Amino acid sequence: MNLSHFQSDFSSEEKCLEYLAGQKWEKGYKCRKCGHTNFCKGKKPFSRRCTRCKAEESATAHTLFHGCRFSLTSAFELMYLVCKRPDISSYELSRLLETRQMTCWKFKKKLMECLEENGSLMLD
Ligand SMILES: [Zn+2]
Repeated sequence: MNLSHFQSDFSSEEKCLEYLAGQKWEKGYKCRKCGHTNFCKGKKPFSRRCTRCKAEESATAHTLFHGCRFSLTSAFELMYLVCKRPDISSYELSRLLETRQMTCWKFKKKLMECLEENGSLMLD
């Protein structure tokens, strides 16, 4: 995991989704339901839809951000801060991101575990 990723511009949700889609389908698209590799654009920004079974997968599904209580832009900012200073406290994150300390603590923990286990932001 290279921190230069997080120094790019992730100021809007669209940019975060674009980045996630790029990471997730880096090696190409494959439908999780039927294994088909052709897709068309889904309904949500940067989601993909299987052309055979019509299953749609969002850019955040099966990533660390699925069901995240932060906005995507805040989550990316948190990652950036943590990559820059891995010892940053959840109190400081809470102050910088204007988010509850417990929420920051939980997300940081999830992020570290995910990076350690999978080496990426993908959960599987
Ligand atoms: Zn399919």
